[in-house]
Amino acid sequence: MTFLQNDKIFALVDCNSFYCSCERLFRPDLAKRPVGVLSNNDGCFVSRTNELKNLGVKMGAPYFQVKDICDKNKVAVFSANFSLYTNISDRVMNTLFEFTPNLEAYSVDEAFLDLTGFDQKSIIEYAHLIKETVERHTGIPVCVGIGRTKVLAKLANRIAKKNVSSRGVCSLLEQEQLCTALKIVNIEDVWGIGRQSTIKMKMLGIHKAIQLRDFKNDLLIQKQFTKIGRMIQDELREISCFPLNTETPKKKEIMCSRSFGTPVFDIRSMRESVACYASLASEKLRKQKSVCAEIEVYIQTNPFKDIPQYAKAAKAILSSPTSDTRKIIRAAWETLDRIFLNGFEYKKALIKLSRIQEASEHQVSLFGDNDSKEDLEIMRVMDQINAREGHEMVKIAACGTNKEAWYMKQVLKSPRYVTGWSELVKISKL
Ligand SMILES: [Mg+2]
Repeated sequence: MTFLQNDKIFALVDCNSFYCSCERLFRPDLAKRPVGVLSNNDGCFVSRTNELKNLGVKMGAPYFQVKDICDKNKVAVFSANFSLYTNISDRVMNTLFEFTPNLEAYSVDEAFLDLTGFDQKSIIEYAHLIKETVERHTGIPVCVGIGRTKVLAKLANRIAKKNVSSRGVCSLLEQEQLCTALKIVNIEDVWGIGRQSTIKMKMLGIHKAIQLRDFKNDLLIQKQFTKIGRMIQDELREISCFPLNTETPKKKEIMCSRSFGTPVFDIRSMRESVACYASLASEKLRKQKSVCAEIEVYIQTNPFKDIPQYAKAAKAILSSPTSDTRKIIRAAWETLDRIFLNGFEYKKALIKLSRIQEASEHQVSLFGDNDSKEDLEIMRVMDQINAREGHEMVKIAACGTNKEAWYMKQVLKSPRYVTGWSELVKISKL
């Protein structure tokens, strides 16, 4: 079967075991050792190096279940250190921007690049150059996948990761390579095909990517898997349906929630946690230059524990939209006071900011409680200091100083190598 060619070229650059690679960056002694990173509260693995995968530790495996294997094999296990990962991610993206402004930062560790215009031979050399430059500038190993569509670039990247002989770069621009790849790749490993779709695909006799590409009844695919399913099929046929998305859309809701490391019983600790989450959420709100008009607070006991249960949410509507941390905390506290009951063992609190709009567009309130120039300036300076000196260098006193009372458990966390002055790597004199 032949299909209409398009001249687009997409590359997907994806960091290898990203969180683990970040941890290794400042610990050269871990270069050969298996490394794993755990989710919030040190629950389960969210990133594993190949050495750890080879030990049979699966993605999402609860740490306590595989602790014996880890101990026996000297696995270096870390709590997630997100401020480190975000910082390194920015460095990777900035390096990629040097190659093209047509870039979509798809997630913290992967980016699509539009490389349309290259010929098929030189593109592989260029991909190797991208790979080597990122590794030299940031120390993070990456793989590059190339295809005529995003789905194919994603697929190529997968092959580059698994196939050692590819040396980290795989191009599916040549028909021969493309066909071989589509014959090997299982349908569930095609980008966008979830668990439910996989079951339905298999019922139609589609087990490999090539069988979806060559499936004759397009209408049936559309009916069973919606328009998206049809687009994925077209992308396998080298017809580009998913364009490069260079703008990061602004969030319509901002949420901040964590489970507590130790249960919370009293309103004081609960207020501190709510204030901290509200500050984090407000910071994100200001980062995208928005204001919000609604704040929701939700608190909950642990449903998996045999204890008296309680969960409740409440909202506050603001008379004027704001991004001022102080106003948001005040509204969150008033809301918390309405729902908090003594006598329960709380496990979790959540803050949600909604009715978000552009800061420049919001309507002036009749009641005169808009953010003044002074308020805006205080917030701007606070954000600036925190960006330069490290997270929470300046914060609102309501967040408290005794986080240990409720903060999530992260006993295995590495230092803040790049965002905390006190935790910089020290090199001792000889
Ligand atoms: Mg990755």
